[in-house]
Amino acid sequence: QTPNNEDTEKESIRCLTTLGHFGFECLPYQLVSKSMRQGFSFNILCVGETGIGKSTLINALFNTNLKDNKSSHFYPNVGLIVQTYDLQESNVQLKLTVVKTVGYGDQTNKEGSYQPIIDYIDAQFEAYLQEELKIKRSFKYHDTRIHVCLYFISPTGHSLKSLDLLTMKNIDRKVNIIPLIAKADTVSKNDLQKFKSKIMSELISNGIQIYQFPTDDETIGQTNSSMNGMLPFAVVGSTDEVKVGKRMVRGRHYPWGVLQVENENHCDFVKLQDMLLCMNMEDLKEQTHIHLYECYRHRKLQRMGFTDVGPDNQPISFQEIYEAKRLEFYDQCQREEEELKKRFMQQVKDREIAFKDAEKELQDKFEHLKSIQQEEIMKLEEEKRQLEEEMTDFSKTKAVCETLQTQACTNIKKD
Ligand code: GDP
Repeated sequence: QTPNNEDTEKESIRCLTTLGHFGFECLPYQLVSKSMRQGFSFNILCVGETGIGKSTLINALFNTNLKDNKSSHFYPNVGLIVQTYDLQESNVQLKLTVVKTVGYGDQTNKEGSYQPIIDYIDAQFEAYLQEELKIKRSFKYHDTRIHVCLYFISPTGHSLKSLDLLTMKNIDRKVNIIPLIAKADTVSKNDLQKFKSKIMSELISNGIQIYQFPTDDETIGQTNSSMNGMLPFAVVGSTDEVKVGKRMVRGRHYPWGVLQVENENHCDFVKLQDMLLCMNMEDLKEQTHIHLYECYRHRKLQRMGFTDVGPDNQPISFQEIYEAKRLEFYDQCQREEEELKKRFMQQVKDREIAFKDAEKELQDKFEHLKSIQQEEIMKLEEEKRQLEEEMTDFSKTKAVCETLQTQACTNIKKD
């Protein structure tokens, strides 16, 4: 085609303006109304020492008073309390699951303190995987996978404890960690900045991955990026309302003044609330599903023998793997059956030999006893014969004596 031809063709194409609309511009609204109908769910794990302020902070975050018993310092092991609440704000429903550690950091030997936490996170992944693998899946399944772990750091002002490092190192590939400096009202402003830097450098030098607020979103990227630089958030919790001027605010009342929880100059509570609930809750859920759960699923399926490529590096389908596994299993069953049969036959043979040996032994014993008995009989018969001979001799002697006696008597009478 010559350029001239192209130009004429372009001119001949008519452009029509749309009359009315097609309707797919409304797709986001469909999603919104569906989500509103279904409600949302969010699962938070709070890890921190007993009395560090976990319950108070959760209550403050959700502006509620979630019933909770004071935890004791005398648990022999670390445990987890799981509580699920149905919350509502305007017409948005939220099924909130809060999992809190109990007895964390209270034992003298802290070696296995993080294990119950790992086990719990894995158990939720496993439950989800099992649900996914079911033939008949429940579409009302309550997904209990942990979306975020709020890790409460003691406000020591020095550095992280070895338990903090150990726990975070062991869970950072399984859950989104947001580190928090708890009870930040107990650390001065200057010390707090130094403490934050120290914590971050310790996390980096120990290769611990914490959750980063996503920066690739045009609308919230910039805010998220500046918030990433403010981690760990220094938070203060309170469920009390105190009077400041003419207003009632959530805060903590001290002899020297009032700490306002929701005042950004006093602490990072609002930053946490915004980042966690208003801006990044969906991202936390997405990261949990597409990265953390995916890793668990990948490892688990691989351990079960599933793979995406065969030994020749060619793609292999689930069906092929299943067939191969089935054959492998069938072969294994056959081998085991053969093995069992062999073992059984060997046992039968061994028993037969043992029976034969026992029978022979009994026969020998019988022969031996029989020969002894025969000897006894012969001995007795010999004795009997001797006795009979003796009896015959005796009878003969007796008869002779009687004859002699009779003769003697006759002779006396004659005389
Ligand atoms: P949990 O065992 O970690 O759940 O701790 P709680 O939330 O039950 O808090 C234990 C105590 O610490 C309570 O008396 C709270 O009032 C207090 N507390 C909670 N948060 C803060 C805080 O940010 N600063 C101070 N100073 N005290 C707090």
